[in-house]
Amino acid sequence: MTLEELSRAVAQCQRCPLRMTATQPVPDLIVPDCEYFLLGEAPGRDEDKAGTPFVGAAGKRLNVLVALTGIDLNKCSVGNVVRCRPPSVDRKQREPRKAEIRACIVWLRRALAIAQPKTIITLGRIPLSLFSRYGIKQMHGTQFEFDLDEEFICLRTKKKGGKDEDTKANPDNL
Ligand code: SF4
Repeated sequence: MTLEELSRAVAQCQRCPLRMTATQPVPDLIVPDCEYFLLGEAPGRDEDKAGTPFVGAAGKRLNVLVALTGIDLNKCSVGNVVRCRPPSVDRKQREPRKAEIRACIVWLRRALAIAQPKTIITLGRIPLSLFSRYGIKQMHGTQFEFDLDEEFICLRTKKKGGKDEDTKANPDNL
């Protein structure tokens, strides 16, 4: 799949209910054969309106963060675990649910296949949970290898009675 085909497919995606409440899907910004892929959780309000990841307040925070590391943001791919903004609950944007992550992971896999990053930098608990069973406290600042041909870790929970376990009851599994 080419970058153009991926962008078109994401723009038309209706694989999960998030599409019903979001303004539009926000495709990843992919730089093929990049050094870094910066991976956030989900588009926020500004990204939802603009259709571009990491604009507005989140973009400013990311720019400051990246400037401190000396990484050239123009040479990085940036994207999110899910591409449609989750709705707000009690005025706070809720986290993407496991079924939504599962539905959207196909686009992340394809984005990573095109970007071929040497390093994925996870920005927050949900992106980290794709690759590690451990939380931010344990993993902050550490680097480890992950085989992208394997199923992402947060999607590996066993099913009970044909249904996914309630990840809300056990957020460490998400
Ligand atoms: S969040 Fe992902 S899977 Fe769900 S509709 Fe948007 S692009 Fe499709």
